[in-house]
Amino acid sequence: MNSVALEVRDLVKSFSLDGATINAVDGVSFQVKSGEFVALVGPSGSGKTTMLSILAALLTPTTGQVLIDGQDLAQMNEKKRVKLRREKIGFTFQSNNLIPYLTARENVEFMLRLNNKMNRTGRVRSDELLARLGLADRLHNLPAQMSGGQQQRVAIARALIHNPAVVLADEPTASLDTERAFQVVETFAHLIHENDRAGIMVTHDLRMCQFVDRVLQMQDGKLVRVYESKQEIMELAQGVLKH
Ligand code: ADP
Ligand code: MG
Repeated sequence: MNSVALEVRDLVKSFSLDGATINAVDGVSFQVKSGEFVALVGPSGSGKTTMLSILAALLTPTTGQVLIDGQDLAQMNEKKRVKLRREKIGFTFQSNNLIPYLTARENVEFMLRLNNKMNRTGRVRSDELLARLGLADRLHNLPAQMSGGQQQRVAIARALIHNPAVVLADEPTASLDTERAFQVVETFAHLIHENDRAGIMVTHDLRMCQFVDRVLQMQDGKLVRVYESKQEIMELAQGVLKH
């Protein structure tokens, strides 16, 4: 049985806006084991990005706990949190945040350099990873020389290269055409399963759920439904289930 890589307990995140308070995340609890790939779905504004930002230790929750590899983020000082984020977490957000003056390969290797893990093996691994994502002929291109979809795939490679325990992806297929989106999510799923990582992918495209092990559905900041059986997940992905 795989261990729990990530756990969220009674998580709440409130924002104050023009005197009103909204709970973007409103009392959510769940666990993700290593080797498990989970989708986070729900309508726009349901709290998915806020949730992912908290898991990435980029945003502090109002109340509740986040444990990564058993370590409580709130119990760490900023220095430890930064180290944990850099070593144990890989993420890609809607805007891919690639460094514009670095090539595809250099953007991926940048994560290894940050962790002092860049060496010859690192070069081979980053080139292999980019090749698996269909970018073998793009190693030396700058972000501006690639399509949005290609940039998104570089960002995925960058999120995986340093062997993080937890991989977080916010709409990784947003700028991909359907066929490429399926390929990328399938490869992403393989890379998570093969290496016993815990993966969470936010998606508005329910068809992408066919590659995940569990689906968490949010609405108004709350976790309203969990799809766990293979059949339920496939029905959701095929648009059979009403949701
Ligand atoms: P999703 O990713 O599911 O579309 P978000 O997590 O981006 O949802 O947003 C959830 C809710 O929180 C929305 O109502 C949004 O307007 C609000 N929200 C998100 N970030 C902020 C912020 N920094 N300040 C105020 N409200 C915010
Ligand atoms: Mg979002």
